[in-house]
Amino acid sequence: MEIEVDSHTHTVASGHAYSTLAENVQVAAERGLKLLAITDHGPAMPGAPFIWFFMNMKILPRIMNGVGLLRGVEANITSWEGDLDIDEDLYQVMDIVLVSLHEPVVTPTDITTHTDSVVKAMASGRMDVFAHGGNPAFPINADQVAKAAVEYNVLIEINNSSFTTSRQGSEKNCAALAEAVALHGGYLTFGSDAHLADKVGGFDDCRAFIETIGFPRERIMSCNGKGFIDFLKSRRNNADLTGFDPLFAG
Ligand SMILES: [Zn+2]
Ligand SMILES: [Zn+2]
Repeated sequence: MEIEVDSHTHTVASGHAYSTLAENVQVAAERGLKLLAITDHGPAMPGAPFIWFFMNMKILPRIMNGVGLLRGVEANITSWEGDLDIDEDLYQVMDIVLVSLHEPVVTPTDITTHTDSVVKAMASGRMDVFAHGGNPAFPINADQVAKAAVEYNVLIEINNSSFTTSRQGSEKNCAALAEAVALHGGYLTFGSDAHLADKVGGFDDCRAFIETIGFPRERIMSCNGKGFIDFLKSRRNNADLTGFDPLFAG
C-alpha cells in the first residue's frame, strides 16, 4: 500500500518536538511522500506557537525538495461546547486543520460530552481532520462521530503514534472508529504525528492495523495525494491550492 500523504507532523515550533521543518521535509522526500502537512499545536496547548506562526505560513513554498507542504495546525477543542483555539480567519488561510482533544487543554469527562463536543466542532466547519480519536483518555461514540464526519465532510485520522509511543490502549477504539467510518461511507487519513524527523512518513503500524481490520484502501485519503488536495479544496471558499499541480502532472 503506497502512502502519499502524511497529514500530521510537528516541528520544534510545537515546543516539545525536536526537528525543524527542513529536516522533516528531507525525510518526507527520502520516503517518497507527495504531501507533508506541517501541523504544529494550536495556541491553547502549553508551549505552542503564537497565532502569527500560523498566519505567516503563507511564506512557505508550495513545494520544497519535491514535497508539497500543507500549511496546517493541530487545533484544540477548548470547551465542551466544541469551541476551537482557531478562528474563521485562520481557518481560511490554513490548508489543513486537524482538531484534537488534549488533556492539558480540556479535562476528560464522559463519553456523551466528548462526543457532543466533537460533533459540534465538526459542525463549525473549521475541522478538516479529527485527529487521534481513538484516545482512551477521551472515549467517544464511534458511530455518532463517524456519521457526523460523513455529514460534515471531515476525515478521520488513524495516528501511527497511537500504536507506538502515545495514547496506550487506542487500538480497540481506533478499530471501532474505522469500522464505523467504513459503514457510513467516510474516509480515513494517516498521520505519523512525528515529533522527530525520523518518524515522518512512518506508517508501519497504520498499515498493519488496516490489514487487521480489512478497511477498504480506496477510502484512505493518504493513499491519494491528488484526491487529498481535491478534498481540501472542497472544504474552503476560494482555496488556492493550484501550487501543488506540478506534483500531479503527467
Ligand atoms: Zn505534541
Ligand atoms: Zn495531538
